[in-house]
Amino acid sequence: MAIERTLSIIKPDGVRRNLVGKIIARFEEAGLVPVAVRRHWMSRREAEGFYAVHKERGFFAELTQYMSSGPVVLMVLEGESAIAKNREVMGATDPAKAAEGTLRKLYAQSIGENTVHGSDAPETAKTEIAYWFRETEIAR
Ligand code: ADP
Ligand code: MG
Repeated sequence: MAIERTLSIIKPDGVRRNLVGKIIARFEEAGLVPVAVRRHWMSRREAEGFYAVHKERGFFAELTQYMSSGPVVLMVLEGESAIAKNREVMGATDPAKAAEGTLRKLYAQSIGENTVHGSDAPETAKTEIAYWFRETEIAR
């Protein structure tokens, strides 16, 4: 096990419903420290760049429209096995399949508007963090 960093996003549906504090509290309780936090309203182009890996998927237009529909909270979470830990706290992509007590089970409205994003592997965590944050914006 090692200390890792991962990118977390509180998506527009979470910000719109004032769930920011509740969501960050869950991460902190799980030992994930927000070492960088920024509220941001993505442009469509930024959303398309961030989710480029999904550009051939049928939901790409819906996803990028949604992610640019209102402000999000971008965060770098740091902690022991942060990448897997964050995915565990979030729960499955589809809230109907998410485990009890996970953020998506508690808060997500649909498979698309599912409240939180988390990087899925060390390589993607690195590129996703660099997409939104400079090293000097991360403080620990
Ligand atoms: P995760 O966010 O759990 O890593 P994916 O990487 O598979 O999930 O998908 C990225 C995002 O695209 C999801 O979080 C969700 O917002 C959206 N998405 C995934 N599958 C669908 C779908 N079938 N219909 C609509 N939106 C989807
Ligand atoms: Mg993913």
